[in-house]
Amino acid sequence: MSVEIMNQADNHCVVLQKQGGLARLLIKNPPVNALSKRVRLGLIDGIQTALQDPSVQVVVISSDEGLFSAGADISEFASGDVEPPLPKVLALIENAEKPVIAALNGPAFGGGLELALACHYRVTFIGNKVGLPEVHLGILPGAGGTQRLPRLVGVAPALDMIVTGKPVKAEKLPGLFDHLANTRELLDDAVSSLADKILNQRETIRRTSDIPLDASAFSPDLFARYRSGIARQTRGFYAPERCIQAVEAAVELPFEQGLERENELFLECLQTPQARGQQHIFFAERAAFHVEDYDRDTPVRNIAKVGVIGAGTMGGGIAMNFANAGIPVMILELKQEALDKGLGIIRKNYEASAAKGKLSQEDVEKRMSLLSGTTSYQDLGDVDLVIEAVFEKMDIKKEVFSRLDKVCKPGTILATNTSTLDINEIASVVSRPEDVIGLHFFSPANVMKLLEVVKAENTSAEVIKTSMQLAKTINKVAVLVGVCFGFVGNRMIETYSREANRLLLEGASPEQIDKVIYEFGLPMGPFTMGDMAGLDIGYFVRQSRKPFIEHDPSYCVVADRLVEQGRVGLKAGRGAYLYEAGQRKPISDPEVMEIARSEACRLGIQQREISDQEILERCIYPLINEGALILEEGIAAKAGDIDVIYVYGYGFPAYRGGPMKYADETGLKHIYDTLCRYRDQLGAYGEAWFKPAPVLKQLAEQGKTFNS
Ligand code: NAD
Repeated sequence: MSVEIMNQADNHCVVLQKQGGLARLLIKNPPVNALSKRVRLGLIDGIQTALQDPSVQVVVISSDEGLFSAGADISEFASGDVEPPLPKVLALIENAEKPVIAALNGPAFGGGLELALACHYRVTFIGNKVGLPEVHLGILPGAGGTQRLPRLVGVAPALDMIVTGKPVKAEKLPGLFDHLANTRELLDDAVSSLADKILNQRETIRRTSDIPLDASAFSPDLFARYRSGIARQTRGFYAPERCIQAVEAAVELPFEQGLERENELFLECLQTPQARGQQHIFFAERAAFHVEDYDRDTPVRNIAKVGVIGAGTMGGGIAMNFANAGIPVMILELKQEALDKGLGIIRKNYEASAAKGKLSQEDVEKRMSLLSGTTSYQDLGDVDLVIEAVFEKMDIKKEVFSRLDKVCKPGTILATNTSTLDINEIASVVSRPEDVIGLHFFSPANVMKLLEVVKAENTSAEVIKTSMQLAKTINKVAVLVGVCFGFVGNRMIETYSREANRLLLEGASPEQIDKVIYEFGLPMGPFTMGDMAGLDIGYFVRQSRKPFIEHDPSYCVVADRLVEQGRVGLKAGRGAYLYEAGQRKPISDPEVMEIARSEACRLGIQQREISDQEILERCIYPLINEGALILEEGIAAKAGDIDVIYVYGYGFPAYRGGPMKYADETGLKHIYDTLCRYRDQLGAYGEAWFKPAPVLKQLAEQGKTFNS
């Protein structure tokens, strides 16, 4: 029989139950058992009570929830209320004179795993996952994780877990657990038999901090090799290098000094703009899901079968998302040949994943079996959602939607993947505009995490809510936006591409511009990106946007000339750069600079040397300014939504927190003043394109930020 001697009425989130000589401390802090102040106080009280009670022989720390603990309550970082600090709680546990077992009844991450590391024994079940994901928040495990984990699992595996932040299955970490039950259900029995075994042993307290780190067990150049191995993917991030230094401290220093060094490095990370940026994105991603367009009572439609129109680049990738989630898809193409080609590319993609060991051959076949093809609209009668991904032409989209309206059952969500077209106009051709929505995937659609959910004038709350939830099912990060040209992401990127092109005319080279942007942290610069996407795409968009851009004769003229000469980018082997057959590496082409020179001369633009700083400001600040206009118009509900779009859709560095957070960190007054300076310096061009958004001016004057 167990007796509960503490409960939540004590204002603690830790319940102490006694069962014979066993005291169980159960963490109860839904939804994720964060180790917030009340949990830390509860653990201290619980442990002290158990230690003082002579009838208690063994203490077990576990939880009542489906997980052990997701770690620290990071909202407390900002408040600064860290008392009692977690390391202090863990020291109390580790120094306890009675054996303490951590029973991990579910995943343990961050501080949750650090808590387990400080216990004397650990038990869990096969398949349970643990990890130290702090690096994703721009920090490092600051409660002894970097010192204790290497002592238990070895330096190399610990280093990798801490620097990558990846979760790992319990059975892949020999040394960490004293016992692995076969299933979660068998965990209690495993804990009881371990407790019995411990009590029968003479030496019952095994402190992790006492375990010596055997330097001969790993190669002396481990750290140097690890550093060079991760240099590319951790470029610009502050925390990964500090994670490495903390593990080095574990190897080089006695435990207590190692803990001190870990704490110093933790505090160093915490104060960086990178940590602020990464934590901003963490919260913004979650906040993006909370929108005012529906509520708890809004019903959600069941999406059991999906239709996709068009088996091209996007249609194929979109279909894969659903097959990956186990949802059957019917793909419609105009001609059997196009359909076969599209399905063939999907199979090739899956086979490539299988070759890399990411999928089994069985998975490939299972996913392919969920994909069917048709050339007849009659086969779309039973789908719950249809996503159109045909050519970007309004008349074709309208024709597709009229046909869908006729064949789809009532309640089918009719979605378009258009990048730029007016969804209200598309919705105007159907009898049920409330069912029409934009689901804007990013290329490659099976890889990119972002989904812009675009609500049109008449889209119903039910359709919006279903779409937002569906994004989770297919493992996407959804952001709800309104209709305008290019929605949020592409509307903003237009300003960036325009400015990059103009800088070319003014004398910068594609290499210089791409280098500045790459060094700022994007995966590639605008010219490499343009060549990869195909310069013809932008060209056609410009043709349809003539009324908005023809006042500026310099608007992307070099790109226009390149396309007119057949230099459409990587696929043609020539664009802003040259490419060797089958190679993706851009090679400089003096001819492009020559085209820029002659166009500049024709337009009366004086070429000059342009500084890297000017390139950065002129590419990024107008993008921020467009974001401000988007907020003002209500196309995005909050600045964080824009940041999420840019980090997940455009590779804007997470450590800068997205463009709006970057602006906040830089100072809105500086952004505003700089835009005004270029407006004044660049004559008619400046007047046309460098007008600061009123909301930017207002916030700058008030000393405020976008993300307040
Ligand atoms: P794509 O040319 O690769 O594919 C379009 C496919 O649609 C072709 O296979 C074509 O045969 C088929 N098609 C054309 N008309 C059709 C019709 N009436 N019925 C059925 N099938 C038809 O184009 P894509 O790059 O996949 O773009 C598709 C849509 O996605 C466009 O609206 C585009 O703006 C949008 N989009 C593209 C990207 C991108 O990076 N490529 C990103 C986001 C959104």
